[in-house]
Amino acid sequence: MTRFPAELLDSAVLDSIAEFCKSVLAPEAAATDRLARFTTHHMKALSEMGIMGMNVPSEYGGMGLDAATLLESMAMISGTCASTGSMVSAHFLASDSVKFGGNEEQKKKYLPKMASGELFGAFALTEPGAGSDPASMTTTATRDGDHYHIRGTKHFISNAGAADVIVIYAKTDTAAGGKGISAFLVERKNGGVITGQAEPTMGLRGAHAFELSIDAKVPAANRLGDEGTGLRTALKTLDAGRIDIAMCSVGIAEAAFRTAQEWMKTHRVGKTSISDFQGLQWMLADMATDIAAARGLCLEAIRIRMKNERYSHEASMAKLFASEMAGRVTDKALQIHGGYGFTSAYPLERYARDARVMRIYEGTSEIQRNIIARSLLA
Ligand SMILES: Cc1cc2nc3c(=O)[nH]c(=O)nc-3n(C[C@H](O)[C@H](O)[C@H](O)COP(=O)(O)OP(=O)(O)OC[C@H]3O[C@@H](n4cnc5c(N)ncnc54)[C@H](O)[C@@H]3O)c2cc1C
Repeated sequence: MTRFPAELLDSAVLDSIAEFCKSVLAPEAAATDRLARFTTHHMKALSEMGIMGMNVPSEYGGMGLDAATLLESMAMISGTCASTGSMVSAHFLASDSVKFGGNEEQKKKYLPKMASGELFGAFALTEPGAGSDPASMTTTATRDGDHYHIRGTKHFISNAGAADVIVIYAKTDTAAGGKGISAFLVERKNGGVITGQAEPTMGLRGAHAFELSIDAKVPAANRLGDEGTGLRTALKTLDAGRIDIAMCSVGIAEAAFRTAQEWMKTHRVGKTSISDFQGLQWMLADMATDIAAARGLCLEAIRIRMKNERYSHEASMAKLFASEMAGRVTDKALQIHGGYGFTSAYPLERYARDARVMRIYEGTSEIQRNIIARSLLA
């Protein structure tokens, strides 16, 4: 498949990520899914490659990749092992929250260790009853001298079971709705955060998400930004996260497309190659067109982001289209394989299951439509 324009990409980085995907992630992707093995077993290798810090500026110890190279890398990683892509994306949500919301001291203290993988991160916004509408969250942070006392429950928090640092969003002013939310960087070693079992999920079975029970005393110095600025930090973080999810969707769709393309060239029904069937040819044509359209929307969002302009509208369009596209493409790729596509001997059913959540997390398709419509009518 095509990549973004060459002038936007660091080809040396992409070549080394491609080699890493081939030699480290690919051989284990099917077993990771089958055994629901948390992809933290790849942490050392990912850290050595610099992948855990691809989003962190070089002055804070990261690779400081531009958006195009970073997101092209995420497409490759997710196309190889979507569970690993999701685990890395969730870690980025934590380090991006520090990058966008933290002060200089906090960035210097935490970002280098998060970039090197020494501190593994999680991002805790969602609560039971407050997923699509974070302003209705009930987790509170009450000031107590030089600490805050954070109490509440979060759920579906990726990485949390193994995370060293969790960015927890909580209300410092319960009467102020979204403007009462503040962000805190919570160090697990200080206690007060308990995680349950990983949620059993239909896809991304190697990217574990957990419920959190929080009753923690957190130093006031670990508040990211002023009181009441948490939702702004979360939304800025999610803008970056949504193009990331869009490109992870593109990566899964491209992997499914390539598998189906190869199958069409080699599989026969009786004496006839299935590539002679016009119905399947058209499926392949639609798949390629769908993927190219999703890439176009991602590129539009990336170009605006690279100019340091606001790109929420474009990020939502990219996420909405690419995540829905990944559902269509993985389904067609499975269909092209006939009964084989339905078996776990081939990766099609894994691609279809992994793609499904892209329409749900970091804002459902319905919420992306709300964001797009709001900006169209503003
Ligand atoms: C595998 C996985 C990993 C996750 N990882 C994280 C994580 O690391 N951190 C984190 O904070 N969260 C995480 N989440 C949570 C995820 O972001 C939420 O599940 C998602 O935002 C939807 O929220 P909800 O599940 O509460 O659904 P709800 O908000 O209850 O929505 C239910 C339905 O109502 C629709 N709906 C809601 N509001 C509206 C509206 N205003 N207009 C139209 N339709 C609406 C939704 O689209 C959906 O169809 C994860 C979820 C999963 C499944």
